[in-house]
Amino acid sequence: MKTFTDAYNSYPKFRCGCPDFEILKYNFYYLCDCIEIKQNEFNMEVRFCQSCGMPLRQTEDLGTNVDQTPNEDFCRFCYQDGNFTQDVTMEMMIEHCAQFVDEFNKDSAQKLTHEEAISQMREYFPHLKRWKNETE
Ligand SMILES: [Zn+2]
Repeated sequence: MKTFTDAYNSYPKFRCGCPDFEILKYNFYYLCDCIEIKQNEFNMEVRFCQSCGMPLRQTEDLGTNVDQTPNEDFCRFCYQDGNFTQDVTMEMMIEHCAQFVDEFNKDSAQKLTHEEAISQMREYFPHLKRWKNETE
């Protein structure tokens, strides 16, 4: 498992500039300084959904297994009751994530185009467990 710092450094450099990451909700691939602050505060390891790249910071963010225990690898948007919620390819997931770029840009000093966001995700997503086999 990656440490937070490894993950942070290898993650596309999205910054939300928000006072509270919670307000971003489904803007899963946006790492912000707030997370880093919280990480230090609680000395927790931040993991990322191995399907969409959303930070998994608390139990409520996690998906669920068949027996309703939390799944440590995937977020609740991607994985529920032991199955992926959507049968998609990596490319489809990237497209799905890319629709949140405009929302992200509103609150950020760094403005990304749709294409820039997609190209950053294309580099990052093949490292996630769900897509590893697909891209090998
Ligand atoms: Zn996810």
